Amino acid sequence: MKKLFIKTYGCQMNVYDSARIADSLAPLGYSAADAPEDADIVVLNTCHIREKAAEKVYSELGRLRRLKERRAEEGSRMLIAVAGCVAQAEGEEIVRRQNAVDIVVGPQSLHRIPEMIARVERREGRALETDFVPDEKFDSLPASRAEGPAAFLTIQEGCDKFCTFCVVPYTRGAEFSRPVPQILGEAQRLVDAGVREITLLGQNVNAYRGKGPCGGVWNLARLLHHLAEIYGLERLRYTTSHPCDMSDDLIAAHRDLEKLMPYLHLPVQSGSDRILDAMNRRHGRDHYLRLVERIRSARRDIALSSDFIVGFPGESDEDFEQTLTLVREINYAQAYSFKYSSRPGTPAAAARKQIPDDVKSARLQSLQGLLSAQQHAFAKSCEGLEMSVLFERRGRKPGQAVGRSPYLQPVHVDDAEHLIGMIHNVIIARALPNSLGGTLAGARPKAVAVH
Ligand code: SAM
Ligand code: SF4
Repeated sequence: MKKLFIKTYGCQMNVYDSARIADSLAPLGYSAADAPEDADIVVLNTCHIREKAAEKVYSELGRLRRLKERRAEEGSRMLIAVAGCVAQAEGEEIVRRQNAVDIVVGPQSLHRIPEMIARVERREGRALETDFVPDEKFDSLPASRAEGPAAFLTIQEGCDKFCTFCVVPYTRGAEFSRPVPQILGEAQRLVDAGVREITLLGQNVNAYRGKGPCGGVWNLARLLHHLAEIYGLERLRYTTSHPCDMSDDLIAAHRDLEKLMPYLHLPVQSGSDRILDAMNRRHGRDHYLRLVERIRSARRDIALSSDFIVGFPGESDEDFEQTLTLVREINYAQAYSFKYSSRPGTPAAAARKQIPDDVKSARLQSLQGLLSAQQHAFAKSCEGLEMSVLFERRGRKPGQAVGRSPYLQPVHVDDAEHLIGMIHNVIIARALPNSLGGTLAGARPKAVAVH
């Protein structure tokens, strides 16, 4: 039996891709290794979103090179593959800088990994694939397998928005939506294998426009309605959304579909119109605030999360203040915030007014202080509520189980191990720093929270 070790960087879409790489190599006799030291092939599935992404990959490759040399001295062969967005962006440069690398494969060519390994094993030299053919990728990769009651399902890839800070349109290519029958089939198989919650993934998931079973194009709202009809599938989520693609019928789906969890990741990046414009986000502050109002009136218990970038080129103190006032106005349940980092090849990287790092750090600290206070207040507001929890795994204490609330918060419950894989109502007793603690409710299970 050969062994495979995959190190995954970045977002959930990469987690999904890594699982598909592992599945595609299983028929060749590869099973998971616990560490690179035990592996016959090590895959780095990389992300290029933030600063020094490529440098981190090169330093990891330096470590792997030494390991590969040690293994060669012991008479065994270890292959090194670099997959994902750094592979796409750097291409042959990777092999030039680190000649221990055997395979370089972009995110749209992952289905070619088995054939590339075979080529390298036949000692035909290195293999490099960075084409953009996403339909071929999804036709050829094995469908996702259930590894617990919650699963990811990629429905859309790439992006046509070209925000001026972002590399995704260059590394993942143009928007591509998987056809509806492929998605419904994969969802049904996951449910048959015990999955109760599916998160639909896409870089721009609410721009989904997939070919329907009888021709025509389906949007995300229509797809969600059909997925909600799958018996045994109790919870649906989708991420990540762009504010410009929140259509009326998608908002209505939040009102009409009980299975659609009341939690939405809706990145705004900045609260300043000037900066939103410079980012090419295609909407202003008011558009976002009005959109949130409409979403909240469709589903009163919805909680929101977002991404923010501080220190975008040209961001003044007033612009940053606008971000803080927007955050206060919205009141988020959770959010991610980043210092702007220049990505080579993106328009913002060439902007003259780059912000000094100490200013970025100070802004990040003050934004994160505000966001974590809001997150904590949201968690406190859950105390005493009865919420549905999907139990996913054992906790640290004997008999304890950990699940997810409708708002994605981890919930620890004693004497609940027998419920792993199921949904049960829980009375939330306390808000901990990054999770909730509760006790099982006597009531019969419900699919959504009573908030
Ligand atoms: N498509 C999503 C959207 O429109 O908001 C975001 C996808 S991106 C993969 C995830 C997040 O990374 C972004 O929302 C943004 O906050 C952050 N990000 C992307 N490029 C960045 C950069 N150059 N510097 C800092 N943060 C960045
Ligand atoms: Fe990047 Fe999202 Fe903008 Fe697309 S919409 S360019 S993925 S930040």
